[in-house]
Amino acid sequence: MHVCPLCNQFSQLSFTCNNCKTIMDDHGRLMDFFDDYSAYLDIEGMKLFDGYPTDQKEHSCPHVFYCEKCNTNTTVLISEYEL
Ligand SMILES: [Zn+2]
Ligand SMILES: [Zn+2]
Repeated sequence: MHVCPLCNQFSQLSFTCNNCKTIMDDHGRLMDFFDDYSAYLDIEGMKLFDGYPTDQKEHSCPHVFYCEKCNTNTTVLISEYEL
C-alpha cells in the first residue's frame, strides 16, 4: 500500500516559489481542487485529465502549492511511501 506523506501528515514537505523563493503553502491534493467543480469524474478519469504520464503518477500524489506573494499556484508530485 502506498500513502502520501502530506495527506497522512507523516511529514511536512515545503517547496519554494520559483519566482520569489517564498515558502509555498500546501493547499491540498489536486484531486480535491477538481472535486469542487467536476465531482462527476472519477479518479481514473482524473489521471487522464490532469496530463501527467501514468507511470509517474502511479505512486505519487499531486499537491497544489500556493505562493501568496506571486498569487500563483503550482502542482508538485509528492512521492508516496510504501507501507
Ligand atoms: Zn497527498
Ligand atoms: Zn512567489
